[in-house]
Amino acid sequence: MGKMSDSVADEPNPSAIKTCPVPPPFPPPPSTSYCRPKTGPVPEASFATHVPVSRATRDIWERLFDEGYRSDVQILTSNDVPIFAHANVLGMASPVLRGMLKQAKTRSDGRKSISVKGVPHDAVRAFIRFLYSSCYEKEEMEEFVVHLLVLSHVFVVPELKQICIESLERGFLTTDNVVDILQLALLCDAPRLSLFCHRMIIKGFREISGTEGWRAMKQSHPVLEKELLESMVEEDNREKERVRRGKERKIYLQLYEAMEALVHICRDGCRTIGPHDRDLEKNQQPCSYGACRGLEQLVRHFAGCKLRVPGGCSHCKRMWQLLELHSRLCADSSLCRVPLCRNFKERMRKQSKKDETRWRILVKNILRAKAIGGSPFFLSLLVSSSSSSSSKF
Ligand SMILES: [Zn+2]
Ligand SMILES: [Zn+2]
Ligand SMILES: [Zn+2]
Repeated sequence: MGKMSDSVADEPNPSAIKTCPVPPPFPPPPSTSYCRPKTGPVPEASFATHVPVSRATRDIWERLFDEGYRSDVQILTSNDVPIFAHANVLGMASPVLRGMLKQAKTRSDGRKSISVKGVPHDAVRAFIRFLYSSCYEKEEMEEFVVHLLVLSHVFVVPELKQICIESLERGFLTTDNVVDILQLALLCDAPRLSLFCHRMIIKGFREISGTEGWRAMKQSHPVLEKELLESMVEEDNREKERVRRGKERKIYLQLYEAMEALVHICRDGCRTIGPHDRDLEKNQQPCSYGACRGLEQLVRHFAGCKLRVPGGCSHCKRMWQLLELHSRLCADSSLCRVPLCRNFKERMRKQSKKDETRWRILVKNILRAKAIGGSPFFLSLLVSSSSSSSSKF
């Protein structure tokens, strides 16, 4: 700031002192200064409604504020240097300021005087400037974004409030300030920003719960801390549930692949094992079924195991289960080459309700995990399975 005059009342806006009577400088380059088209009442049927405000018009508004030409309001801030403004502009831009001006006393110099304290002087200046020209400096936004958010909320200037919220969301949030900003967002009725902060806190909880902001919030807003901790527990449980489901899905997919490989081995034969009526080629190319190799070993074991009874060795038990599962998925046992397919289908009818439900759920989960893929021989199986069961996939 330049040198200030003592007799403020006789002078226009203090910032104009250093520039007067020299014409105001050109507006700064667009990289540091941001302008939005002015909103506010426009005469009906005016073309200006859809036309961006020209630079010349904007400059007039900027100069009107900078020079304080015929200003009739002085705004007192925390550093006692008044900002000069125009009641017409302030009243049109903010209903709250209009109310304040209505009640403000008129000073001997004819100006109305109002106070905006509790925020830095330069933040108030940036705020009032925005009311004139919808312009602001990038650096000012970075430095005063929190104050500008409060001012725009308190004085009901939705356009600026939106810019502050967007700026915060787009990169001004840090581990250190997010707890403060959350509280501010709640106070300023900015639900999107609150949600943004909330998510950030949950994501970086370990680090953020150790910050000064968190400690202060714990003291001043114990209820908010409790809510955040509860969300944290919920999120933790959700994560555990996600992991559990992921593991489960993997098992179902493995079972599905085993089913595919089983049909393939019994129908086409693979490597060293296959249907008795089919000659296996020597030096076969490896097949495309991932589960084939494991299943091949299991089938070999099953064929040679001495304890070949249900409830025998663990490998055989596994094989029995796979064979039964196949039978439950199989569309047509009369055409099927998988051993015991038909036997299991017959056994199914005599099974208890409890066993039946258990199998049905397993089949349903396997098919759902696979989300009904394009596997040629299971497509028919899927159709059969979904029509034979009351459940939908
Ligand atoms: Zn194979
Ligand atoms: Zn065995
Ligand atoms: Zn079958």
